[in-house]
Amino acid sequence: MKLPVFFSFLGFLTAGMHAQQSAAVDFTHLQANVKIDPFKKAVSGDVVFTFDILKATDSILIDAQKMHFSEVFLNDAPAEFGTDGKKFWLTGNFSPAKDQQLRLKYSAAPSQTMYFINKTALGKAPDYQVWTQGQGRYTSHWLPSFDEPGEKLEFDLSVIYPSEETVIANGELQKTEKIGDSLTRWQFDMEQPMSSYLVAIAAGDFEKEIRFSKNGIPLELYFPAGMEHKVEPTYRHTEFLMDFFEEKTGVAYPWEIYKQIPVQDFLYAGMENTGATIYSDLFLVDSTGYQDQNYVNINAHELAHQWFGNLVTAASPEHHWLQEGFSTYYALLAEKEIFGEDYYYRKLFKTAEELKQLSDQGKGMALVSKNANSLTYYQKGAWALHILQELIGAEAFDAGVKNYLEKYEFATATTEDLLAEMEAASGIDLSTFEKNWLRQSAFQGTEAFESLKRSPFIQKYLELAAAKPLPISEKRELLKQALSFPVNDYLGQEAVLQLALEDPATVTDLYKKAFSSGNIFTRQAIAFSLQQIPQQLKGQYETLLKDESYLTQESALYNLWMNFPGDRPKYLKQLENVDGFNSKNIRTLWLALSLATPEVSAESKKNYITELEAYTAPHQKFQVRENAFGYLYQLNAFSSETIYNLMEAARHHNYRFREFSKQLLKTLVDSGQLTAEEQDTLQKRLDEK
Ligand SMILES: [Zn+2]
Repeated sequence: MKLPVFFSFLGFLTAGMHAQQSAAVDFTHLQANVKIDPFKKAVSGDVVFTFDILKATDSILIDAQKMHFSEVFLNDAPAEFGTDGKKFWLTGNFSPAKDQQLRLKYSAAPSQTMYFINKTALGKAPDYQVWTQGQGRYTSHWLPSFDEPGEKLEFDLSVIYPSEETVIANGELQKTEKIGDSLTRWQFDMEQPMSSYLVAIAAGDFEKEIRFSKNGIPLELYFPAGMEHKVEPTYRHTEFLMDFFEEKTGVAYPWEIYKQIPVQDFLYAGMENTGATIYSDLFLVDSTGYQDQNYVNINAHELAHQWFGNLVTAASPEHHWLQEGFSTYYALLAEKEIFGEDYYYRKLFKTAEELKQLSDQGKGMALVSKNANSLTYYQKGAWALHILQELIGAEAFDAGVKNYLEKYEFATATTEDLLAEMEAASGIDLSTFEKNWLRQSAFQGTEAFESLKRSPFIQKYLELAAAKPLPISEKRELLKQALSFPVNDYLGQEAVLQLALEDPATVTDLYKKAFSSGNIFTRQAIAFSLQQIPQQLKGQYETLLKDESYLTQESALYNLWMNFPGDRPKYLKQLENVDGFNSKNIRTLWLALSLATPEVSAESKKNYITELEAYTAPHQKFQVRENAFGYLYQLNAFSSETIYNLMEAARHHNYRFREFSKQLLKTLVDSGQLTAEEQDTLQKRLDEK
């Protein structure tokens, strides 16, 4: 899984609940025929489990949250069963036997794990998306399955859904068939076993482009209808990533097909379901958005999980870094090939700073532990692997990883299992490495720093950063150098951020150099940091509105509008037809600024407020809604309708957006902005809970 940077991951650490069962019963296959009703937010199914009884036992357990069961048959005979809202079980005297069959029917209205997104706009035809998130949420909320990741079985799904939509799930699509007038059955096939948390379904109005990797693996790249122009920038480098990971791991991609599906209002940045990554549609970008928040890192991270996590799964939560550390590190290795070595070292440098800071506060965490935070599992994990590769050399590192993946394929592994393979491949005793990097809570700052200094870029970067406290008279030459052609992205940025500490009038010559560098990141740093624009820089600052970056454009529009009131209509005109990211970051800002511009006619303003209000509606992406709510608040322009939309948002399934909405609602209540009727409605809604 890949988290957005602002999200702290706390879930899924309660695995291992029925480790005892796996010794007695081994589930090998699940044929699941499920019917999803997006309107009723319900799912029902007819499923057949195949399993072996390895030794005599008195119970057979399956995880099943809040499900109703009927027609339960064990080997074709009606069977007595029990259920407690969390588990389903059979009790009896079961002797060792192969290929037992349990067939049952169930229904559920999942409160989590399967999400029903109503995208229907007022007066428009029904438009729904359904998608699942198994990790941390338990697939057993919509499909009887196993919360314990060590129980791996082959899942073959068949899904019944309204015909006009597209259904995507793990495995190859075998066939589709019409069921009655309005429904279709999509039938998928998998060849290999996996953990239940990796089962996935996505359904909606999707189209796809199919590409192939060097080794012929079909790559199905999904996109919402009407977003064709975002396919190339969003999925740029996808074939390379697949080829790179096959080569670096030395292990062929373990599954038959790879699909990627962008969905609305996703919980995280992305989730590596087996052969079917689901990710946030915020990462669907056009070629300008690609500069700012491209999908490459998440694409690489989720794909790496297909080996690290999906093929070989951490045996228990304390070994979770074997999934996230490896995926973070391998994604970084792939990005190094695409974006260069400076990018690689700069990222390591940044995460080392964060890890060191945490460690210095006494909050460092050991990598091998049950309750580490995401910074530890992801970034400290990547750091440990970077150090390990330096320590034993790339050749032994690759050989060890290959052996590890092959030895534990379609099974689980521990940190000790990995270390044994790395020691065998390198002939090097790794006990010191294990102690310092895997078991110690403190971050090994000195060793990390020594490693970073091997990069000539980092040496220059450190030299520049060290000049930060110096007076401008003593560092003018150094900054000038950093802003001279060819400008390094990160050195240019750092130089501009240091300029921001000075009186702009005294460094206009350096700003002019930065503007004319043509380096998009250096210019972006100006848009972010230079808020009081001196008259001498006005002309050049205005050119930022044309940069190939929505972040730059957004910041530049705001700063220019604030600094030069006389030119507001001119600036607004320039970005009149720009949406920005899928979050409409520029459009919502543009509307807010237009509403606050005296020269804009009352007639136009009426349209603009209507448009801004419409972006708060429940069918909009939550990121769009968040922007619109924020600007309505700043404009002091909430209406009854938008307040009701905010109340609805305060119950959204996305934690971050829900908290944002609750907070804003509280602010409105506290400042007495709700009418008596709105207060009343709010109270009723609170009482419902
Ligand atoms: Zn991950």
